[in-house]
Parts: sequence; C-alpha cells; structure tokens
Amino acid sequence: MARPNTNSSYTTFLKVYTKLFRAFGPQHWWPGDTPFEIMVGAILTQNTNWRNASAAIGRIKKTGLMDPARLLAQHHRIPGLIRTSGFYRAKSRYLRAFLRYYVANYRGKVTGFSGKSTDTIRNELLSIHGIGPETADSILLYALARRVFVVDAYTRRIFARHGFINEKMNYAGLQETIEQELPKSTKLYGEYHALLVRAGKEFCRKNEPLCSNCPLGTMLRPAR
Ligand code: SF4
Repeated sequence: MARPNTNSSYTTFLKVYTKLFRAFGPQHWWPGDTPFEIMVGAILTQNTNWRNASAAIGRIKKTGLMDPARLLAQHHRIPGLIRTSGFYRAKSRYLRAFLRYYVANYRGKVTGFSGKSTDTIRNELLSIHGIGPETADSILLYALARRVFVVDAYTRRIFARHGFINEKMNYAGLQETIEQELPKSTKLYGEYHALLVRAGKEFCRKNEPLCSNCPLGTMLRPAR
C-alpha cells in the first residue's frame, strides 16, 4: 500500500492523491491471483465494467484454463467463456493475439520479462492487436510491477474538471505530466489509478458530477 507523503512540498497531483487516499483508503488493486490473471483482466475490462470482466475471469478459472498455454490450446472456447465481458468477439481476438505473443516469446512466464526494459515491453504490447496504451500500461504496472502511470477516462475527466490539465492533451502528454509531478513510485502509481477510478465511478460521473459529496470537492475552483 502506498501511503501519502506528509512532506509539506506537495504538488497538486499529490494533494489529490492524499485526499482520495484519506477518503477511500487502500484499494488493493489490481484484483487477480496471478500476473496472468491480471493481464487477462486488463484485456477483458476494456469498454466494460469490472463486474462483467470479473464474471468472465471467474468462468475461465472455473474451467481450469487460467494458464497461458492451456488457454491458448483451448482458444476456441474463449468466446463462450468471456461472453459476459461485452464485445466478446473482438476481445476473443485480442486475447488470442496476446496469448500467442506471451506463449511464443515468454513461454507464458512472467519471469521472461525480467531484463527487458519497460519501453521495450510496452512497444511489444502495443504491437498486439487490441492492446492500446491504457491496457498496455495496466499490464506493465499491475502484472509486471513496472513504474508507469495508467491514464484512463476517469483520470482525464477528474483532472480536466479541476483545470489541472488540458482536456485535449494526448495520452502520452498526460502521462508524462502526471509522472513528472509525482514521486517515482510503482506502489503510488498503482494506488493512485485505483483511487481515481473509484472517485470517477462514485462521484465524477460524466453527466452529473456529485461534487458536493466528493473528497475532491474542496479543490474545485470557485464559480465566477
Ligand atoms: S465530482 Fe466534482 S469534485 Fe469530484 S472529482 Fe469530479 S469535478 Fe472534482
């Protein structure tokens, strides 16, 4: 668990983290028993809520296929197993592409990544059909414990609504901005992303933000 720094030289981004952590506590992310399960979850949760992805993960586990080589060998069963995750045909293709890469290059073992730079692995992941920056960074951060900040729609919405970032900033620019303002800590990055997701889900809704009850409500600029 990454506890907030109590040094007085907080940056704005660290203040946000501190407020969220104090309000919500540790989020124990990413849910998953193994790095491989986290990788699968990062792919299945694209464009859907975690409950749907989690149900699909539960089915894969129940059938004893939460193993890279076994799942690849039984890849024809993937669509049926992940049907609840939404866009399951596309996700089946993404998952198969990832499994082929992981088994062929790393024999499905997370230890195979050691010795490779984060940038190299990230580029490999981004070359796989269906894996974009958010999914690649989720895998890097939560499955491989690499220090990258995961940027998602909640991150962008929350920081933009407070005027901390330009909403039109691209993924790489936003990631770089946030990383520059935070201590270089894998644990902090992991906890922070999870806290932003929670704040986004519970308070910072797309159409109706619930600012008066939100832990970040006091950080809003006064209306003119
Ligand atoms: S709900 Fe309001 S206070 Fe909370 S993060 Fe969103 S804009 Fe900020």
